[in-house]
Amino acid sequence: MERTLVLIKPDGVSRNLIGKVIAHFEENGLRVVALKKVRLTKEQAKAFYIVHKERPFYEDLTNYMSSGPIVAMVLEGENAIAKVRELMGATDPAQAKEGTIRKLYGLDKEKNTVHGSDSPESASREIPFFFSEFELMNAE
Ligand code: UDP
Ligand code: MG
Repeated sequence: MERTLVLIKPDGVSRNLIGKVIAHFEENGLRVVALKKVRLTKEQAKAFYIVHKERPFYEDLTNYMSSGPIVAMVLEGENAIAKVRELMGATDPAQAKEGTIRKLYGLDKEKNTVHGSDSPESASREIPFFFSEFELMNAE
């Protein structure tokens, strides 16, 4: 069993897509371990996306991610990290495969509805960014 961090980004929350996005993951064998709705400050968004700090889209991305509430969750399943990445689809919704969350709901390369950890190392950093040991331990 593996765990990964998923975010429903502001465009997903504002368009009432929380239920549809979670259903998509649940219907594909992933289990919700922990879940919360939060709004990041600009500083928190910058810290979360620190690996992208040299990228040209960092400023816009962190403005966007702090522009409204998001939903953070930890999903669990076999190969959860790769499975979530597959179900999300490519970063740019226009390039994403049919039936993926970003193809179905993404608006553009920035407002692409979901985030999912891209590796075990990312998941190990991103899960504790949002969830305490207590929230993760008492989920079963
Ligand atoms: N992003 C963007 N412009 C780009 C590439 C990425 O606004 O040219 C945003 C987009 O919201 C993306 C996030 O930055 O999901 C992180 O980028 P990454 O390359 O890690 O894509 P992901 O892993 O989310 O598919
Ligand atoms: Mg990424």
